[in-house]
Amino acid sequence: MNKPVYMDNNATTSLSPRVLDAMMPYLTEIYGNASSKFYNVGRIAGHAVSEIRERVAVQLGVKPNEIYFTASGCEADNWAIKGIADAYKAKGNHIITSSIEHHAILSACEFLEKHGFDVTYLPVDGEGRVNPQDVEAAITDKTILISIMTANNEIGTIEPIAEIAKIAKAHGVLMHTDAVQAVGHMRVNAAELGVDLLSVSAHKFHGPKGMGLLYIRNGIRISNLIHGGGQERGKRAATENVAGMAGLAEALEIANAELNESVEKMTRLRNRLIDGIEKTIPDARLNGPRDDGRLCNNVNFSFKYIEGESILMMLDMKGVCASSGSACASGSLDPSHVLLAIGLPHEIAHGSLRLSVSAETTEEEVDYVLEVLPPIVERLRQMSPLYEG
Ligand SMILES: *Cc1c(COP(=O)(O)O)cnc(C)c1O
Repeated sequence: MNKPVYMDNNATTSLSPRVLDAMMPYLTEIYGNASSKFYNVGRIAGHAVSEIRERVAVQLGVKPNEIYFTASGCEADNWAIKGIADAYKAKGNHIITSSIEHHAILSACEFLEKHGFDVTYLPVDGEGRVNPQDVEAAITDKTILISIMTANNEIGTIEPIAEIAKIAKAHGVLMHTDAVQAVGHMRVNAAELGVDLLSVSAHKFHGPKGMGLLYIRNGIRISNLIHGGGQERGKRAATENVAGMAGLAEALEIANAELNESVEKMTRLRNRLIDGIEKTIPDARLNGPRDDGRLCNNVNFSFKYIEGESILMMLDMKGVCASSGSACASGSLDPSHVLLAIGLPHEIAHGSLRLSVSAETTEEEVDYVLEVLPPIVERLRQMSPLYEG
């Protein structure tokens, strides 16, 4: 096999050729400064930015002036947490989040804890679900923000965001959701969800890397992210990345237009992987929910007695790209914070494998993984001092 079998779509996806086509004019002829009105190549870029903002807003069910482009999902998450904390610090210093958030949220919260904020990291159930009643019980008169992810990047759990947003609203608390994994894998309408802030990253749905956005509902105060020029209504300075914006808009439109078919296809591939692994590998534990409430493209298993990293190395030799836990955590030997939060003991939290498909994944690729994985697990177990089977 020369082309790798790519099963790491929760980490990043390939750039769609249609998206590249949509970006190309802004990487070539239309290089003008989108904020300059004094010459045509700038005006054209400026008009493009307005038009792109409108297209993106339509896709998310919000208004164009509620879309703020950022240079990544991490940036959008950081801005939501730190920007709201700073703008509302006179009102209170308490933030509620979950113990299974992406590190962009967790580390931003830990930073705030060093600066006088209190953060509640809510526990989750055995499948990674946050209980809305726990959210409500954690609210105090000092709570200014609740941030819970729409879907988890490691184990695919979809959280009850609309329900939590209702609770937030009833208590006059702002609600942010990291929807980075959700977009492209389920319908995401910020207005319907009822959230005040929502993060998106283009490269998780076949858009370009280094391009994200933060939806900020009109009427919400937020501190400026980057001080400088007047771009993004003065809140995030930097000469506009028009090509990136065009790529994000195109990828979002394609993802939503093809959502029904692509979700159906990804779900089928996901289930084929889950069923195949359970049938052929003993002592394999599926992490996260089985069907309902699981991202259509995520598979995460723990294999008793062996390390996730060793599986990855052997899969790589077979041309399969996968990951163990979160991409940020791989490379370190810490067990995944998500797997620990769903109650796995340390030794099992080390042995997890995440396989994530896209609409471009084929059935043949899934079957190839199902053919090479069982002997890999068996061989590693034979080498493990813990294994007696
Ligand atoms: C990938 C990811 C991010 C970070 O997005 P970048 O654009 O890579 O910075 C944030 N949150 C979740 C849930 C993710 O999966």
